[in-house]
Amino acid sequence: MRKHIFNAGPCKLSDSLLKNSAEAVLEFNGLGQSLIEISHRSKDFQAVMDETVDLMKEVLSIPEGYSVLFLGGGASLQFAMIPYNFMKSKSFYVNTGTWSSKAIKEAKMWGEVVEVSSKDKNFTYYPKGFEIPNDVDYVHITTNNTISGTEIFEDLDVKAPLIADMSSDFLSRPVDVSKYDMIYGGAQKNLGPAGVTFIIIKNEMLDKVVDDRQIPTMLQYGIHIDKGSMFNTPPVFNIFAVRETLKWVKAMGGVKAMEKLAKDRAELLYNAIDNSNMFVSPIVKEDRSRMNIVFVMKDEYKEKEADFIAFAGERNCVGIKGHRSVGGFRASTYNASTIEDVQALVGAMKDFEAKNA
Ligand SMILES: *Cc1c(COP(=O)(O)O)cnc(C)c1O
Repeated sequence: MRKHIFNAGPCKLSDSLLKNSAEAVLEFNGLGQSLIEISHRSKDFQAVMDETVDLMKEVLSIPEGYSVLFLGGGASLQFAMIPYNFMKSKSFYVNTGTWSSKAIKEAKMWGEVVEVSSKDKNFTYYPKGFEIPNDVDYVHITTNNTISGTEIFEDLDVKAPLIADMSSDFLSRPVDVSKYDMIYGGAQKNLGPAGVTFIIIKNEMLDKVVDDRQIPTMLQYGIHIDKGSMFNTPPVFNIFAVRETLKWVKAMGGVKAMEKLAKDRAELLYNAIDNSNMFVSPIVKEDRSRMNIVFVMKDEYKEKEADFIAFAGERNCVGIKGHRSVGGFRASTYNASTIEDVQALVGAMKDFEAKNA
């Protein structure tokens, strides 16, 4: 039986992705060869790459003038590549938790990072209404905070180029891509298996690359755009799997349908938390993530947290242990999570509370 998977990343993926990827690994396109045995420069794989890029543009309504890349290195390499390419001396980062802190660490190698942060309250809210200095090279935000459990639901209007790490809420709502100069993330939360990084970059950003800096070839966005993500061997299996997710999202009704599902799942679980005498959410209401639902037990029940994880496990709910830096629980409900998955967890919460409160 397939479990109710709440893993934070890698995470639950659609059944169609699992099935079609498994088949393509055994034999692809009737070639008598596997997807992972053929050349990335073959016409069969080139067609996969082209279709994946086209589907990205279609599903997210990406306007003209943007390129879509699929590279290695994870979102973490982007933390370094972004300032390496674009930070002359000063940048602005919204620090909303572990991942943005890691991004800031890389940027600091290149100059001054002006920072607005929710660290004062342990990242339990999303900073708003902040002022951005006029002379920054770019603004960097993390739209969903996978570990702390906050999310921003609007596309900001800022003067400087806006760069967003959307690793963990990508395709979970419609996004006005025109407001961003770059969107990126690791695939392993909403898009596919770990091992490929997606990048949506406005071509005009190439004019903003720091011109008196030597940048290693592999770390130049311009090279990857020129070569259509094939400067070196791309992660072929992962790109195929991403294509399967995009097809699935489209068949499900697109990002609007994903948003509705995300809202329904999150509402169900947050209502159960808010109506409980045992569980509580530490996150400010309007900033609560739909993708990573962080909750804890009230102080008087704290010693029962491990018991609840075991109890939920018996109900086939897996992956709900909170991140080591936060404790408690985290149910990650990405695009492939179903209402039934969340209902199973809510049922476990209610039954556990009835027995133990
Ligand atoms: C998981 C995650 C990352 C790190 O991604 P890698 O692909 O492992 O480098 C970065 N940012 C956010 C928001 C994440 O959730």
